[in-house]
Amino acid sequence: MFTKILIANRGEIACRVAATAHRLGVKSVAVYSEADANAKHVAVCDEAVPIGPAPAKESYLKGDKIIEVALASGAQAIHPGYGFLSENEGFAKACADAGLVFIGPPASAIHAMGSKSAAKALMETAGVPLVPGYHGDNQDADFLQQQADKIGYPVLLKASAGGGGKGMRIVEKSEDFKAALASCKREAISSFGDDKVLVEKYLTRPRHIEIQVFADTQGDCVYLFERDCSVQRRHQKVLEEAPAPGMTEERRRAMGEAAVAAAKAVGYVGAGTVEFIANQDGSFYFMEMNTRLQVEHPVTEMITGLDLVEWQLRVAAGQPLPMKQQELTIHGHALEARIYAENPEKGFLPSIGTLRHLHVPAGVEFCSTNLPLTRAAPSRPSPLKGEGENGAASGYVRIDSGVREGDTISPFYDPMIAKLIVWGNDRAEALAHMSQALSEYRIVGLSSNVTFLKRLVESPAFSQADLDTGLIERNHDILFPAAMPVTMDVVSLAAASLLTSEQNSGAAANDPWADTTGWRMNGTLLRKLDFSDESHAYPAVIGYRETGWSVQLGERAAVMTLIERHGAQLVIKVDGATVRGTVVREGEAFHVFTGGMHHVLAYSDPLAHAGEAEAEGGRLTAPMPGKIVAVLAEKGKTVEKGAPLLIMEAMKMEHTIAAPADGMVEEMLYAVGDQVAEGAQLLAFKVA
Ligand code: ADP
Repeated sequence: MFTKILIANRGEIACRVAATAHRLGVKSVAVYSEADANAKHVAVCDEAVPIGPAPAKESYLKGDKIIEVALASGAQAIHPGYGFLSENEGFAKACADAGLVFIGPPASAIHAMGSKSAAKALMETAGVPLVPGYHGDNQDADFLQQQADKIGYPVLLKASAGGGGKGMRIVEKSEDFKAALASCKREAISSFGDDKVLVEKYLTRPRHIEIQVFADTQGDCVYLFERDCSVQRRHQKVLEEAPAPGMTEERRRAMGEAAVAAAKAVGYVGAGTVEFIANQDGSFYFMEMNTRLQVEHPVTEMITGLDLVEWQLRVAAGQPLPMKQQELTIHGHALEARIYAENPEKGFLPSIGTLRHLHVPAGVEFCSTNLPLTRAAPSRPSPLKGEGENGAASGYVRIDSGVREGDTISPFYDPMIAKLIVWGNDRAEALAHMSQALSEYRIVGLSSNVTFLKRLVESPAFSQADLDTGLIERNHDILFPAAMPVTMDVVSLAAASLLTSEQNSGAAANDPWADTTGWRMNGTLLRKLDFSDESHAYPAVIGYRETGWSVQLGERAAVMTLIERHGAQLVIKVDGATVRGTVVREGEAFHVFTGGMHHVLAYSDPLAHAGEAEAEGGRLTAPMPGKIVAVLAEKGKTVEKGAPLLIMEAMKMEHTIAAPADGMVEEMLYAVGDQVAEGAQLLAFKVA
């Protein structure tokens, strides 16, 4: 076994590889770009070396630089993860030339699978079933059209050098063929520098089923069963599971053996995935082979109880496969959901920003510790033990993540936040765990697909395993429901969070001016809290009562009391019914997590806005009667726009008076403890 490996990747896969290396006593070397200096993968590896600026082209794709770092650090092997250099034939060769082990297949196997047409030709000779079609060299338009006519419409045109769902055209009828061909070739040349295309039968309602294979240098090759990755958006996987629902033993064996034949045909070594497209009747065809570890490999680990990265390291070190085909078995069912920083409502556009609040479900965090495995998963990610902190003996939750709270999702790399993996004795149990885990996942600071995933997992189509690659589009109305007004409970939670925060920020208990109970000699104090979301307004009129508050929202009135509050977690009673939730305030947004849902309420703070308006004339005045609790600036001081100048407490809220622009404090007119009347000028400020 190696004593040290370099991980030529970042994010969750780098952390995941480091965790296994650590467990096996293998030292790991991280490489990182300028944008990743404080990234988690840098923290979890034994050593870390900077390799260049943020853009991948200048860092993670710099093969020569990475090889140089590996040699200098004394690593014997390089794990490429997925993406970046993992399927780069030149890099695999360069590693070998430098005397380093590339933890992946031989360069020749990467080459053989690099062209869709060549791979299909090779598979044909190996007896692997192919989608009916033409993948030869003749690129004459009339000839290709004749082939399409023969196959029968609809057909799919694919750029031979294509990938990532690009360079594909569906053609519905012969008359449309020539135009589609021209457009496909244009895209192929501009995206891949090669206009060669292939034609194949376009399957309607197909499933994407792939087989995990593993080969060693001794010539042994096994399959670790299938994964169903049919749930896709824009030809990209969203949910993956193993085993595939409805798979029979015979078909599993047939697909497994076809995949092994495909691997053997190219002299494969290491972990690989043979992707098949399957008809609803179960017939299947070779699509392509991915010559690396897949993003979705954890579901295979869950059902087999094996660590695939360990297998990769063993095979790369020249050891035989740890198990024979007949020793491999499937246990239970696993699901993986890809948690992305994206906005499903806006066409799944990536969202960038800082993970201000990140709460992950109870369970095992597989590779999230500063030192791998100090607090991590069982030594083997065995699903058999059910070690989740949630105590659910029948289930297992694993999170593979490359980020921590406070980290940033930047525009430079893939916006994946984490992979959420669950295991159950059967599919129904795994689904229940997934739904629960998604309910507990809380992300504030950027848009994520958590709510969308929850709807998807709970949708009738997915829960009944009515799978095909068009599932998301077909179920659009269920997955993207029209915005409904939030409930009284949600508004009450936001209000309770706001009101109790004000109470907690109150000063000395005996000081009547610091009293935040809202007690008034003559009757109840009423106060309006203006909440809203994108489609509705929720003006909540709050009345202070001896214990708790009254809440009036439109026609609805309720009595609310606080049962307990721990940080952002609240338990309240609304008209006697217990409501639990977590409320995270981010500026003027209240993120309310309750009942497994995430609601965002905008709060328009009258004090903040009053302050802004008042500040316009360079006169900073008290928005309400209150008391000065802190003076932060002094006469003659120059300050930048937004600098806090003083804090006053007004109407049970702390309110910061900030510099309206760059400028100078000419005079502070009050001191700490002073009472001020509404409209009183607090200080004189000169705009620079
Ligand atoms: P890429 O290399 O760009 O990912 P693939 O050949 O793997 O391209 O195909 C990507 C996706 O396109 C598949 O997962 C499937 O959803 C769809 N697809 C590919 N071939 C066909 C086909 N013949 N009929 C229907 N859908 C197809």
